[in-house]
Amino acid sequence: MRNPVEGKNIVVIGAGVGGLSTGILLSLLDYHVTIVDKNREPGGLMRSYSRRGIDCPVGVHYVGALDTFEPLGKMFGVLGISVDDLFYRMGDERVTDRYIFDDFVFDLPVGIDAYEKNLRKAFPLDSAALDVLMKNLREIAGTMMAPSFFLNSGNPFQHMDHFRPMGELLDDLAASPRLRAVLAVPCQLIGVQLNDCPVIFHHMVVAGYLFSSWRLKDGGAKMADVFAARFTELGGNLILNQSVRKINLEGGNVVSISLDKGVDLPADAVVAAIHPKTLLGLLDESALRASLRERIAALEETDGVIAVQASVDAAAHGEVDYNIYRLHADERGFIDDGIFYQIRRGDDQGTNLLSIITRSLYNDWSSWENTLTGRRGAAYEEKKLAMACDLLRKAEELFGPLKNALILDVFTPLTLRDYMNCPEGSCYGVLRSARQLLKIASLNNLPIGGLCLAGQNAMAPGVMGSIMGSFNAVRQLIGDQRFAGEFNRQL
Ligand SMILES: Cc1cc2nc3c(=O)[nH]c(=O)nc-3n(C[C@H](O)[C@H](O)[C@H](O)COP(=O)(O)OP(=O)(O)OC[C@H]3O[C@@H](n4cnc5c(N)ncnc54)[C@H](O)[C@@H]3O)c2cc1C
Repeated sequence: MRNPVEGKNIVVIGAGVGGLSTGILLSLLDYHVTIVDKNREPGGLMRSYSRRGIDCPVGVHYVGALDTFEPLGKMFGVLGISVDDLFYRMGDERVTDRYIFDDFVFDLPVGIDAYEKNLRKAFPLDSAALDVLMKNLREIAGTMMAPSFFLNSGNPFQHMDHFRPMGELLDDLAASPRLRAVLAVPCQLIGVQLNDCPVIFHHMVVAGYLFSSWRLKDGGAKMADVFAARFTELGGNLILNQSVRKINLEGGNVVSISLDKGVDLPADAVVAAIHPKTLLGLLDESALRASLRERIAALEETDGVIAVQASVDAAAHGEVDYNIYRLHADERGFIDDGIFYQIRRGDDQGTNLLSIITRSLYNDWSSWENTLTGRRGAAYEEKKLAMACDLLRKAEELFGPLKNALILDVFTPLTLRDYMNCPEGSCYGVLRSARQLLKIASLNNLPIGGLCLAGQNAMAPGVMGSIMGSFNAVRQLIGDQRFAGEFNRQL
């Protein structure tokens, strides 16, 4: 965006966690904010849905760094949203993630010191590599705790070393394949392969969950409702069930948006908390120079997933306080097909929920590319069911025969594509790989007056990354100096 915005009317496109937190921050600063979302209910990926009375998560399974003085906790503080009302802390058994490989198990504990201890115990021959990795991790974790983390207004490439791909660093350190395999798991949480994952993103994800890890008490629908209620109680206007069709410009500046139902809303600025390729479709072709349009259109995406929600007998399959990753690594430490499992409380009638998520390529669903949710036909349903049954069979290898297992729902990259309006059903938006970093950087500096991105495509994916993207959008809208004055003390 070119300059801090002058007027007071701001439209935010998208009521996901990114759009809603942007709306809350701007309302706190006395802007008149309207958030528009095409879905009937607010929340985007953060919103869960109910099947047979059981709350099924979509895009919030666990979240890191929510303690009062940790980065996400501080952001919740500024937003005025109570962490304790929504979340409980994981790690009663000091384990938040269990990585189960074919021939070894690694536990992700709570705390950076405990993590180092586990790594050194598991990989005594990688001692020199671990010296460097832990030094980097502590440095990045320290940066995340400082207010300047949110005020990084200038060049994000100031620590060039932290933007190297992990693969290159690990080659230099001659890291063992097993260590690589363990380090590869957090990359799955942002949809990037370890080899091409910038050191900073890798370490931010790990550090976030090591600070502290949290699960939702009552599900994502409540989280979405709390965010939406906070926005409207501050005077924000939430328009649901309407798509933004166009962003209108005059003299290179945003002036209004058009909704699909024929209404225009005046806007001094527009925050697009949506995918950048979706944003392109809302702008006239002449709004951006051809080279920038092409660069955005050619951005690589993170992969989609298939997710299975199944109810199981609670007495036979008790709630598991940590997440389980079942992984197969090759001889070089590459992970190709990780599966994520959570067993959580289901309903009060003796049922728990088993959620299973694994990567699924958009191309595998191309036969139904031109169909819409609920109208894809029998062959699609059969394919979904076959894949779900296969995933349940694999789950039985871990949990034993699943008693009273009943598939409640299965979603695919096509479901997510249509639900979020994102290309290829990409889970975490544009791919934050080292080779794509420079191209992505231009997204944070769109050459249109009064237009910026927020949410997972602005800075980083995940709840923490998406909310950080919102703080960054607000910083662009109001300027560094005012941002520091308004939020420095709380951050
Ligand atoms: C399967 C899965 C599991 C995940 N698990 C976790 C996890 O455990 N922890 C974690 O931290 N993160 C997790 N994530 C990531 C996290 O959910 C996302 O990073 C975050 O929710 C993105 O929020 P957002 O606001 O940027 O986008 P979204 O939630 O996608 O919101 C975008 C909104 O924009 C709306 N929209 C799009 N186009 C238009 C238009 N033209 N007009 C009006 N509205 C429009 C959409 O309807 C949508 O509501 C997961 C993601 C997935 C897919």
